[in-house]
Amino acid sequence: MYPRLMINLDKLKQNLDACASIVHRVPGASMMIVTKGMCADPGIVKLAADHPAVEYVADSRIQNLKTYADKVREKGKKTVLLRLPMHSEASEVVRYADLSLNSEISTIRLLDQEAEKAGLVHQVLLMIDLGDLREGIFYQNEEEIFAVVSEILKMQHIKLHGLGVNLTCYGAIIPKHDNLSLLVELGRKIEKAFSITLQMISGGNSSSIYLIGRGELPEGINNLRLGESFLLGNDTAYGTNIPGTVRDTLVLQAEIIELKDKPSYPIGEIGVDAFGHRPEYVDTGMMTRGIIAIGQQDAQLDSMIPLDHDIKILGGSSDHIIVDLSRCHTQYQVGDVLSFTLGYGGMLKAATSPYVEKVYRGTAQ
Ligand SMILES: *Cc1c(COP(=O)(O)O)cnc(C)c1O
Repeated sequence: MYPRLMINLDKLKQNLDACASIVHRVPGASMMIVTKGMCADPGIVKLAADHPAVEYVADSRIQNLKTYADKVREKGKKTVLLRLPMHSEASEVVRYADLSLNSEISTIRLLDQEAEKAGLVHQVLLMIDLGDLREGIFYQNEEEIFAVVSEILKMQHIKLHGLGVNLTCYGAIIPKHDNLSLLVELGRKIEKAFSITLQMISGGNSSSIYLIGRGELPEGINNLRLGESFLLGNDTAYGTNIPGTVRDTLVLQAEIIELKDKPSYPIGEIGVDAFGHRPEYVDTGMMTRGIIAIGQQDAQLDSMIPLDHDIKILGGSSDHIIVDLSRCHTQYQVGDVLSFTLGYGGMLKAATSPYVEKVYRGTAQ
């Protein structure tokens, strides 16, 4: 069946090995593998759970953790909820996540109650916002940080596992020695003030890994949470390829359902397209146009690269993508399959669409 997403487990294993060898240059550092970009695909979860260098397997959605909490725990590893818990999911969070990222004391109180009911201790990573302006207590607001820590330390069923920061995802702020050092300093201050030891100072996601290569990761950061760097080999700070990784771990395939010579410029008055945008076209005369049976429901047009570089993506609607095949050396026909490598957005869409069949390649199953 098409469209389908080919998942190369051998290449993903290669990426995981490469990320692990970089993270392990930091003495005592742990690696958290993030599965949300591939919608917690079972083959990828298994790869992460089986890998000796992975200590934590994480996702932003409790539904995804539910599918794999048992399998990960069986291997002696911990599950992590990355997105701040909703009040309404607190009971599920303590059940399926060993650790969750938090910034709201009201939520942590609920987790404490639910953990008590379930007869367990739930671990919390307190998120600090160093300026990216997504989640976390703002780093300058030390009064709130210390008040929250103080209250957590009195709770019977919550354990403060450490501090964390997330950068780049929203504000596009790049992790540096300067800003990450603030997190380490804050951690040391908390340890001293409360006479405790924080197990984890988590220094961010795939945008932080480049700092290890440069020898600029501040001492004290002892965990990274890696999704895109493992899945697609991308250093997301500067968009370079992480040494030892490959980018073609995933290939999206779709079938040609129409192939005709037509004009490049639509005929008639131009209004708005299926998504309310007013498109602009360049008249380049007649072209060979193909339609493939996949659309914006399953794909992100600016996050997919044709393996045949002579193919140009012209646009698409919910269920159709239109490609220019005029310059191709291959003589395509209706029924042929076109292949694309993916960026993060393209991966997310394809992995999440129920219309895209997932097929494994490689033996690392
Ligand atoms: C998504 C996410 C990650 C992983 O991000 P990548 O860029 O894919 O490595 C890490 N931490 C948090 C809090 C996230 O939401």
